[in-house]
Amino acid sequence: MEELSEATQEYLESIYWLYEAGIERTQANLARALRVSQPSASEMLKRLADEGLVSRDDHKLIQFTDRGHEVAERIVARHRLVEAYLVKIMGIPWDDVHEEAHAMEHSISPRLEAKMLEMIGEVRTCPHGHPIGDYPREPGEAMPAVEAGSEVTVLRLENEAEEILHYMHRAGVEPGRRYTIVTRSGDGDDAVTELEDEAGNRSTVEDRVGRTVSVRVESRGDGPVSTLADASAELQLLGADRWGM
Ligand SMILES: [Zn+2]
Ligand SMILES: [Zn+2]
Repeated sequence: MEELSEATQEYLESIYWLYEAGIERTQANLARALRVSQPSASEMLKRLADEGLVSRDDHKLIQFTDRGHEVAERIVARHRLVEAYLVKIMGIPWDDVHEEAHAMEHSISPRLEAKMLEMIGEVRTCPHGHPIGDYPREPGEAMPAVEAGSEVTVLRLENEAEEILHYMHRAGVEPGRRYTIVTRSGDGDDAVTELEDEAGNRSTVEDRVGRTVSVRVESRGDGPVSTLADASAELQLLGADRWGM
């Protein structure tokens, strides 16, 4: 892995994220995810294909080769490990660690990585709920698609773009915590969901951002779903900044 450039590693990481988030792995979506131009994405994809890391299928969708998948898994696991370490050991707020991890992850030796893994102890996911290494990824439902009146546990913040994490932090939405979906209102971009946490604190989340929150339904209510309930996974590419996991 050491011979791969940082840019190569970031491309593999982005492609891996498109797979996990269920977003169509087109060159255009990849360029949007990475905030690069289409020609840059095209050039890099050619290079990745030459290196035997990706291929394009009949529909021009990007596919990992076995080797590409293996390398991407390792890069992603390291990113998540660094995030968990920064939160648990260094006490950095969870909405700040994604960018920090990106800056650090390329210069960590396998020895340091093993030590960090030891130090985070029982932690099995990054602070945003993404599994580290082989730990299973529990399938979830997008928050806007869950009926009002339901009790949910937040599993993951699928898009780790910095401003989305800050938004969720301000709204008190955190992986592992339980909420009641209280009410729904508005349409399209104005659609919002009101949540109540276990302490009775209420907050309002815009559904276009809530689309990036995966939840487990603990008990299902019979109220309305959001008008954005059927919004495509591509909505997760929102964010003025870089996305991430
Ligand atoms: Zn994370
Ligand atoms: Zn991250």
